[in-house]
Amino acid sequence: MNKLHRHNNSCRCFLRKISTNYDAVLREDDVPEGYCGRCCECNKLGHTRLHPHQGYQDAWCDEHWQEVLTQPFKPWYRRRSFIAFIIGLGAIALLADCS
Ligand SMILES: [Zn+2]
Ligand SMILES: [Zn+2]
Repeated sequence: MNKLHRHNNSCRCFLRKISTNYDAVLREDDVPEGYCGRCCECNKLGHTRLHPHQGYQDAWCDEHWQEVLTQPFKPWYRRRSFIAFIIGLGAIALLADCS
């Protein structure tokens, strides 16, 4: 699709070109050259970008990035990473109770 959308100025691809450390971190995460992150929705290879409406930065694959652009409102509490975080907190609370 539109190249402007695929590579806006918040993409971190340039960072892996100038920082070998950052490049190594991405390689450890199985992110090959040409990408700079994994989609926060489906874990596919993608690029880090600034959310056009909510102002946070995360990674999206091209498919979900189109979704973000066409469906601007997606509440933060519906994001999978947040739900996983809450479940993790719950597990820690349970463990703390038992000990
Ligand atoms: Zn990128
Ligand atoms: Zn995705």
